[in-house]
Amino acid sequence: MEALLLLALIAAIYLGSCAAHPYRACGACGRSKESHSTMFKGAFGACRSCAGRGHTVRLGARLLGKS
Ligand SMILES: [Zn+2]
Repeated sequence: MEALLLLALIAAIYLGSCAAHPYRACGACGRSKESHSTMFKGAFGACRSCAGRGHTVRLGARLLGKS
């Protein structure tokens, strides 16, 4: 029973954190928002992983309806 209480506490802290900080840096571009071509030097476009936003929405934030 105590384990369940602990789990609920951790979930509450995690969701609180997601409410304050809903985003995490994009793993593909590392917040540069750019995707660089490997074949053509200097060519780049918007990061396809985060659609040029530089960040992704955390799972908990998505559950809270943030985007
Ligand atoms: Zn990205």
